[in-house]
Amino acid sequence: MTQTSTPSIDQNKTILITGATGGIGRANAARFARAGLNIILLGRNKEKLELIYDEIEKVSPGKTLIHPFDFITASDDDYKILANAINEQYSCLDGLIHNAGQLGTLTPIEHIPEESWDRIMTVNLNAPFRLTKALLPSLSRSPDARIIFVSSSVGRVGRAFWGAYGVSKFGLEGLMQTLAAELEKTTKIKVMSVNPGATRTAMRRDAYPAENPADVPTPESLMDAYLMLFGQQGKSFHGKAINLRGLDLENPDHNF
Ligand code: NDP
Repeated sequence: MTQTSTPSIDQNKTILITGATGGIGRANAARFARAGLNIILLGRNKEKLELIYDEIEKVSPGKTLIHPFDFITASDDDYKILANAINEQYSCLDGLIHNAGQLGTLTPIEHIPEESWDRIMTVNLNAPFRLTKALLPSLSRSPDARIIFVSSSVGRVGRAFWGAYGVSKFGLEGLMQTLAAELEKTTKIKVMSVNPGATRTAMRRDAYPAENPADVPTPESLMDAYLMLFGQQGKSFHGKAINLRGLDLENPDHNF
């Protein structure tokens, strides 16, 4: 990926990030805060969220909302409460990054426990559906919104033993394409999926325990690409499945 100067983004934008306490989501939060954006951070662990909030307040005071939210236990009312809280505090939502995810056990399909399959589908696929549905009204009020589904290479070509995780990401790609087609003519929302590629996080360590983390690129190295998607160039990725590490940020036309 070609590195370039920080993409310029309207600082009035408000962007919600799920899984903001994890490797890539946390980097999203820190980078978007440094860019001066309003951010809404979702995570299942209140203490972790509060620590991140304290760090971000030092850099970008008064522009962060944290909202504890566990996708396994969340009820319909919890989604409504979140949507209402956003409607009360912001005129619209300009971005939604479906980043939270669980890996589950890498094992043949025939050995996946039903409970594990259901849990992965709930967090990785059902939650993005329910959250998108709850937040579409506020996203529709934005003059230039993005919905980004964080996918994976195993959600684009099936790979042995990646079971529920891979299948859930295939589902996300389908959700992205369907939504992109539905919203194309009726709203200004641009919808896309991103594959971050190998990234140094807890999930990557679980998937590849023998790998030396120092050999794996950091989440921070992805952040210029993420920011670009929220700027003018990002519009052209509507309906597309993007490999973040393959993007040419300096010559956006080369990406097509
Ligand atoms: P992490 O495991 O570091 O972070 C995952 C995040 O999801 C954490 O914040 C975690 O919360 C949150 N989460 C898990 N379960 C729930 C739940 N029930 N409710 C709410 N939040 C939950 O993973 P990464 O940062 O690596 O992954 C981010 C995204 O990138 C994922 O969608 C992943 O599939 C994708 N990806 C990652 C790659 C990589 O190499 N790292 C490669 C390809 C795709 P908590 O902090 O409490 O655990």
